[in-house]
Amino acid sequence: MFEEAAEKQLGKKELGGKGYGLVEMTKLGLPVPSGIIITTNMCNEFFRNGKKIWPALQSKILEKVAELEKKTGKKFNDPEHPLLVSVRSGAPMSMPGMMDTVLNLGINDKIVAALAAKIGDERFAYDTYRRFISMFGKIVLGIDESKFSSILESYKESVHAKSDLDINAEGWKKIAEEYKKVIKQETGKDLPSDPKEQLMLAVSAVFNSWWNQRAIEYRKIYGISDSLGTAVNIVTMVYGNLDDKSATGVAFTRNPSTGEKGIFGEILLKAQGEDVVSGVRTPLPVDKLKESLPDAYEELIRVTKTLEAHFKDMQDIEFTIESGKLYMLQTRTGKRTALAAVKIATDLVEEGLITKEEALLRVEPQQLEQLLYKQIDPNTKEKPFAKGLAASPGAAIGKLAFTVAEAQEAKRRGEKVILVRPETTPEDIAGIAAAEGVLTARGGMTSHAAVVTRGMGKPCIVGAEEIKIDMNAHTISVNGKPISGEYITIDGTNGLVYDKQMPLVEPKLSGSLSTILSWADKFRRLGVMANADTPEMAKKARENGAEGIGLDRTERMFNAPERLAIVQKMILADTKEERMKYLSQLKPMQKEDFIGILKAMDGLPVTIRLLDVPLHEFLPKLDELLPEVVELRLKGTDAEKLVEKEKVLKRVMELREANPMMGQRGVRLSLVYPEIYEMQVEAIFEALAELTKQGFHPKVEIMISQVAEAQELKKAKEIVTAKAEEVMQKLNAKFEYKVGSMIETPRAALTASKIAQYADFFSFGTNDLTQATFAFSRDDVEAKFIPFYLSNTILASNPFQTLDYDAVGRLVKLASKEGKEANPKLKVGVCGEHGGDPSSIEFFNGTDVDYVSCSPYRVPVARLAAAQAEIRRKSSAQASSTV
Ligand code: PEP
Ligand code: MG
Repeated sequence: MFEEAAEKQLGKKELGGKGYGLVEMTKLGLPVPSGIIITTNMCNEFFRNGKKIWPALQSKILEKVAELEKKTGKKFNDPEHPLLVSVRSGAPMSMPGMMDTVLNLGINDKIVAALAAKIGDERFAYDTYRRFISMFGKIVLGIDESKFSSILESYKESVHAKSDLDINAEGWKKIAEEYKKVIKQETGKDLPSDPKEQLMLAVSAVFNSWWNQRAIEYRKIYGISDSLGTAVNIVTMVYGNLDDKSATGVAFTRNPSTGEKGIFGEILLKAQGEDVVSGVRTPLPVDKLKESLPDAYEELIRVTKTLEAHFKDMQDIEFTIESGKLYMLQTRTGKRTALAAVKIATDLVEEGLITKEEALLRVEPQQLEQLLYKQIDPNTKEKPFAKGLAASPGAAIGKLAFTVAEAQEAKRRGEKVILVRPETTPEDIAGIAAAEGVLTARGGMTSHAAVVTRGMGKPCIVGAEEIKIDMNAHTISVNGKPISGEYITIDGTNGLVYDKQMPLVEPKLSGSLSTILSWADKFRRLGVMANADTPEMAKKARENGAEGIGLDRTERMFNAPERLAIVQKMILADTKEERMKYLSQLKPMQKEDFIGILKAMDGLPVTIRLLDVPLHEFLPKLDELLPEVVELRLKGTDAEKLVEKEKVLKRVMELREANPMMGQRGVRLSLVYPEIYEMQVEAIFEALAELTKQGFHPKVEIMISQVAEAQELKKAKEIVTAKAEEVMQKLNAKFEYKVGSMIETPRAALTASKIAQYADFFSFGTNDLTQATFAFSRDDVEAKFIPFYLSNTILASNPFQTLDYDAVGRLVKLASKEGKEANPKLKVGVCGEHGGDPSSIEFFNGTDVDYVSCSPYRVPVARLAAAQAEIRRKSSAQASSTV
């Protein structure tokens, strides 16, 4: 009995979610029909016992039925006061609609006749009976539902009934008789008329539904353990279709899509619960009850208030009103959108129901992204054309553009485009900037396209391998089917591509979002910085609450077309003098960039990473260049152009590397060609000196990438220091700056104590560190074998998205600890993609890491995730200290 369960303080694990809700409501004195719960332990026992109800369980159930009879004053098989019950499943975790339910149990030929006479409504009585027979036949006896529905349909046709409502008492009586015949035919036996026999069969059927195919699949998808089992709830029936003062409904105690206060849901007057779900009739908004059944409505509002005060959260409820009296049939925590989650959490704090810490834990950090980007209308019925990896969230619409030039021209014409490429490289940056979004057929979550678009806050799908891109014909196709129209829409939140213009909805930013983020800032230990390469990104980052820039990838600044030409000349130079000439042309441009970024971030630290990528990335691709040279040679008409192209080809061949990711990049390049670093550093320091003189407060931190050996950092730092002194003298200025190292090679992590002697800060480049630790090429593996590894549980998660704690995490832990031991002033951050991933942030919070850095659009996600991590860390520390 519910009262007994309440006394024993049983939880969801034993009572199941539905049972737990009913017991809690009983405890609160809310109107709940009386009932019995068979616990989940009995379900497991049932299967151990060869799927049979054993005698002790049977007598226990019957003993409880006797108590139920006493409590309700109704009795099984008593024509005067018949007891009818529902027999419902209820697992500890919500598994909506996956398992079975039998309603109106206890009815038979004798009871139906008595019921009809007693309430004076034969139609209602026989409608109830036929519902029972078909449900019992289907769920308990395993008879195909179509056997029953075809009888109903042909009867409706024969009397020209449009809906069930047009069937009269006589009709239901006939249908019930036909249904009984089906049972006899299919099972060779009559429908059991003894309610106790019906009950035992129904309980077995509900237990058995734990192992039906749907339930097994659902548990697999949601990671629910098979060992939990389902409880069985036997509850006295109440009827929302009894008379004109009866109704049934489902509701949320607040709006689950906006979070607005006030009950939100649907009712049907004179109907049963299943009619709301099955869509037989169109339901009315719950507010309509105010007019038709005002007393019951008032009672419902009182109940929702009590429920929220008790559960301290928005509830999803089911109820029935029988002859004007309200009965609560279910309550559980309601699912909600991100917008609603944020609003409800902050409102509940205002209402004094929960603490700020609890509110912060109620919102899923990943969900916040939904609030920051445009989306495809979530109610769309449209089928996607293809699917790829959801690399950068948000939706974008545009015509196809296959080259940078096309994208730029379209932008000049004021047209919107999606840049479609097999994959992108730094050369494509201007095209990415001009496009609304990017779609690539290759590449993974840390590929160039993915990282760049996330940084820019542009939607992107990568690794859509089923898409064939014909760069010559300028078309795309899937399985040989080219797209039909001019436009495509990409949704980088779920990786779906549509071959048409889809309706988009604007994100609704509510005041509650900034409230909850300001609370997050008070609770978090980790700093949150942003990865930003332009003043616009820096501004966006600041707007989103970044405390500085944790990674400014300066190579991105070389990609604008006018600069790329100079960079290419610099790379092609034969002598150092020539190289210096082009570098000095680049310097004022770099200085302008730094002035812009430092101004946008005035007063906050800006970590500027000196050139990282290998030089050949700025030159044309060998497989594009070679055919051009061959053609020019064959034609023999343009000698000048041939000489020029051959020079480029020669340099491309010289710079070619078998493994460019492990080649001459970062510090390795710059120690051999120090003039590149010198130019960059000079530009930085001149910007610093000028801004300081103008009264700004720029804070520069210079970062060296790809360090594997302490001596590399030492030498690079000498270049920086010498330049700083030169600029200070030249400009008669004084300024401060820091020099630090990326830790993105395993050797750097393992020799952190040596590197720390020359570093003011470390920043873990967890993209490269993951690549090097696994020996997985970051641009290839996500489209190749990671999905296979994930679906075959060889890996639990994609290590380029969520940090691999066992090895990469261990390196982070060790290096941050040993680095700080060697240099107590060392500041430690993370600037790889993991810096914006909530579970990785939880890991970093438990190490010596001081801050994370992520794309400007993920900054709010990281702020919330960092707060949650610290709240959880503190509460588990407290729990273990008080055991
Ligand atoms: C990294 O390796 O984690 C990093 C931030 O650098 P990049 O992605 O530019 O190689
Ligand atoms: Mg790196």
